[in-house]
Amino acid sequence: MEAELKDLLNDLHTLKISLLDPSCQALVNKMQSRIEHLSKMEKLGNNQRSKIKDMSAEVVDSNPYSRLMALQRMGIVDNYERIREFSVAIVGIGGVGSVAAEMLTRCGIGRLLLYDYDKVELANMNRLFFRPEQAGMTKTDAAVQTLSDINPDVVLESYTLNITTVQGFETFMSSLTNKSFRPDKEGCGVDLVLSCVDNYEARMVVNQACNELNQTWMESGVSENAVSGHIQLLVPGETACFACAPPLVVASGVDERTLKREGVCAASLPTTMGIVAGLLVQNTLKYLLKFGTVTPYLGYNALKDFFPTMEMKPNPQCSNAACLERQKEYTLAKPARDAAARAKMEAEPLLEPEFLHEDNEWNISVVDDDEVQDPNASSGVADLPEGLVHELPSADEFQKPFISEETSNSVDDLDELRRQLEALNS
Ligand SMILES: [Zn+2]
Repeated sequence: MEAELKDLLNDLHTLKISLLDPSCQALVNKMQSRIEHLSKMEKLGNNQRSKIKDMSAEVVDSNPYSRLMALQRMGIVDNYERIREFSVAIVGIGGVGSVAAEMLTRCGIGRLLLYDYDKVELANMNRLFFRPEQAGMTKTDAAVQTLSDINPDVVLESYTLNITTVQGFETFMSSLTNKSFRPDKEGCGVDLVLSCVDNYEARMVVNQACNELNQTWMESGVSENAVSGHIQLLVPGETACFACAPPLVVASGVDERTLKREGVCAASLPTTMGIVAGLLVQNTLKYLLKFGTVTPYLGYNALKDFFPTMEMKPNPQCSNAACLERQKEYTLAKPARDAAARAKMEAEPLLEPEFLHEDNEWNISVVDDDEVQDPNASSGVADLPEGLVHELPSADEFQKPFISEETSNSVDDLDELRRQLEALNS
């Protein structure tokens, strides 16, 4: 290809010299610069690095993993290279999903499954990741093109489909259960599903799939006014699922509805989307590589730089049958979980309290984490910390016909919640 372009350039040069009509010169010059541009692009395309078999911690300029492997040396992560065993599915390759995919690719994730039905448009250029020359390509194909150049070690799978259609859902389910990447893996074929979609229906579909497959997932969202967002961890049976309670969003004081509506052009900022993608991938890395605390829910209010957090337990009256099944399993497994926790505690040697200095002139005392009550922990669906509100509308809440009196606590919560929602609607 390169030699062919060079030949063409030589021919053009000869043609230019022999041309007598000056009006043709401009056209020849234009053709010449286009060929030069193509040659440059071709050279760039050939610059992809070759695959790397083992991640190395060697500190040399040519090692793309040295800074990541340093996390191990600094004691943050036990075994960074484990990241290569993990598969992450990203649903929605828009302003949040594409950036999340790029971050995971740069971190050297083993395999990424990318789902989106949309094409790249020039209207997407206010966000990060996609480039103008990719306009017209499907988002998943354009993402694979860019990501494979950034890190050829990552196994990339592009699924151009709509998960809310019957056929799309079938392909979605079968791709999540495919174990060819790691046949010995327990559970389904992926380690985590990241929902980066922009509408309620698609979130409910991800929720359905993950409840059915008993697959942990993380949800993310950015408000229509572009100044708030959130991430949420959903573990089937253990935490509230997306149908257990009306979705939570961060109160921005402008418009609390993040759900995409017909005919409404949502605002978006690369900053808010980049921040939410960063929070989502940070939580993903902590979850996969087991370091720090995996956050159950983290909100972001850009106007006040406020980050509310909370926890949500599953709703025993959830309308999603698979959620109720997972809740039952989780309760049944409690004795085994407790025994394992006890065994782990007994196996760990008792740690002597650490003293940093003999003389404590500032009277500083160390308080155990467990002794500090988490002011943000919430057990019910209605008891929310400051700055968080439930999203509207909640299809489940309005579809629920009748709840028996016996479960008075939850009914009170739900009634209270319904009153709040009605007050918001009026
Ligand atoms: Zn549920």
